[in-house]
Amino acid sequence: MVDTENDNSNSMSIDKASFTAAQVTPLDINLNLKDQKLAITWQDGRRSEFQLGRLRRVCPCATCRKERDKPSTSLAILKMPAGVDKIEVVDAELMGHYAINLKWSDGHNSGIYDYKYLRALDAELS
Ligand SMILES: [Zn+2]
Repeated sequence: MVDTENDNSNSMSIDKASFTAAQVTPLDINLNLKDQKLAITWQDGRRSEFQLGRLRRVCPCATCRKERDKPSTSLAILKMPAGVDKIEVVDAELMGHYAINLKWSDGHNSGIYDYKYLRALDAELS
């Protein structure tokens, strides 16, 4: 006999993307343009540090997502545009209380990195 009510409550705990409010609330955001690093101290005490180049490769905007999600059905040469490593963050803006918008030296500025996404990324990298 299957107890469906129990199944429902269990599915909550295996949701990896669920964070407490403190885990996705920054106390301090430090963008270092010289070293191209973003450091965030969260309300739960954790400090995350991201290389900005790495953030560009996981840019959450629709265009970049589409590019990354292209189905690779056969072997292909992955082309990196020349000079991609020289693309830097030149400016950033807070989007309300939930995200940071990074502006890059190649003009790309549609990537909105919400705090949940950054926190999930940090968990993935560490
Ligand atoms: Zn993008």
